[in-house]
Amino acid sequence: MSRQRSNKRARKRRERGPELDVIHKELRERGPFAAETEADWDLPGLGQFRCVVCSRYFISRNALDEHSVSKPHKRREKLLELEAPYTVGEARWAAGLGPAPF
Ligand SMILES: [Zn+2]
Repeated sequence: MSRQRSNKRARKRRERGPELDVIHKELRERGPFAAETEADWDLPGLGQFRCVVCSRYFISRNALDEHSVSKPHKRREKLLELEAPYTVGEARWAAGLGPAPF
């Protein structure tokens, strides 16, 4: 029997990228294709071309544009729409503390 425990779950977690609520926060703060302000030599395209939705870096404006119409990106955008976090208003309404937010 191998002593090394399978790390499949942790690997899956990493591949999936950050949790959706983290991405939602970043989207609110920086918009969908925010670039790093400073060049980061460790990242593709110096970290200047980033898709926040997928939390991926691209080597050029072109590659980012191409990605933004791709299937994986659209799939993830849809997922984000479906799993929008609750607003403060909704939370208060659910707890019986405020008016319905809709
Ligand atoms: Zn994307």
